[in-house]
Amino acid sequence: MQNLTILGSTGSIGTSTLDVVARHPDKYQVIALTAHRQVDLLFRQCVQFKPCFAVLLDELEVAPLRLRLRDAGLKTEVLCGAAALEAVCTLPEVDTVMAAIVGAAGLRPTLAAARAGKKILLANKETLVMAGNVFMDTVQLNGATLLPIDSEHNAIFQALPRGYDGNLKGAGVRRILLTASGGPFRNTPTAELQQVTPEQACAHPNWVMGRKISVDSASMMNKGLEVIEAHWLFNAAADDIQVVIHPQSVIHSLVEYVDGSVIAQLGNPDMRTPIAYGLAYPERIESGVAALDLFKIATLEFSAPDFERFPCLALAYQALRVAGTAPAVLNAANEIAVAAFLDKQIFFLAIARVIESVLNELPVTQVTCLEDVLHADKLARRAASKQVQLLTL
Ligand code: NAD
Ligand code: MG
Repeated sequence: MQNLTILGSTGSIGTSTLDVVARHPDKYQVIALTAHRQVDLLFRQCVQFKPCFAVLLDELEVAPLRLRLRDAGLKTEVLCGAAALEAVCTLPEVDTVMAAIVGAAGLRPTLAAARAGKKILLANKETLVMAGNVFMDTVQLNGATLLPIDSEHNAIFQALPRGYDGNLKGAGVRRILLTASGGPFRNTPTAELQQVTPEQACAHPNWVMGRKISVDSASMMNKGLEVIEAHWLFNAAADDIQVVIHPQSVIHSLVEYVDGSVIAQLGNPDMRTPIAYGLAYPERIESGVAALDLFKIATLEFSAPDFERFPCLALAYQALRVAGTAPAVLNAANEIAVAAFLDKQIFFLAIARVIESVLNELPVTQVTCLEDVLHADKLARRAASKQVQLLTL
């Protein structure tokens, strides 16, 4: 029996994780679930999975949830706040932590899981973008196991040799081909991008996801964050990672070897596949995902990314090359800009402008510890909020 903590259980990845878990009651047991809002959904998840702990962020929600759980005859203990998030990641009885909180809020609890030497199923890519070296060092130092859940990175992990040790050249790899759907605006004329709404940005052609990552996909910042994520996971330089536009989202990424072999992982665009892979690794379990029908798909297309139409992708490559605090600054500025766009404060195209000016404004320093990252994150949020004010509609 594998004991799980699911951070962000009410989100898109969290609910997909519970969907897979529910298919295998003999293999997985839920110890803790955590959520920000959506208390009703958290309550229903507690009724179904009977965890020992449920964690919320809003103190005011705690007492009513406790009461409801007690009335339902459950023993689930309700905890609250950021410290509780870390606590449920480090419990001795927990084997595996699904890191599926969105954004910078996921960093501390995911890091706590690494410090406690847990098996980490990493969906929260922002952890690696912000604090890649600190996180990877912590994983290694404490013997934690890191399995990528982001579909592209999960595909690369599957296409690399088993036991890959972080030496691309040694493994005979020429480069990593990171696929991208191109998002909902792949073919939208640049002139029309100015007027797109949050609803349009969140209507992804292939994937159903949370709102932040949906906007990131529309701006292609998601792919930029994933380039940085791949850098840390696989010890790949920016030049070793080629983004490939592949609108069907059937090939989740590829690894090109020096002998000319290219190994890809294919599947329907459904996150339950990488989640099931992470849960069961190194074995395979049913995920509920329909079999891939190649005859129905029939055609797979590929093209090069357009860095001018999607400046966020170029900014992410730039931040990775600059290194130090630059990726943390990029991430924080992006979070502020995306929230402002979702709030209808700024235009879609202003997202890249906010990030670019913050990257230009703030000095880059080295990252040697978590505090360096948190400091850069704070400065970048402040600078980005100022930029948002200047650009507010
Ligand atoms: P989501 O918005 O659907 O869910 C986010 C979860 O985090 C929710 O449970 C929410 O309650 C919780 N949360 C939000 N803010 C929080 C805070 N401040 N403190 C604590 N908890 C908080 O997001 P998602 O689409 O499930 O994405 C989660 C993570 O997985 C992101 O980092 C995203 O980039 C990554 N990811 C998602 C997908 C996908 O298909 N959805 C694919 C690859 C990677
Ligand atoms: Mg992805």
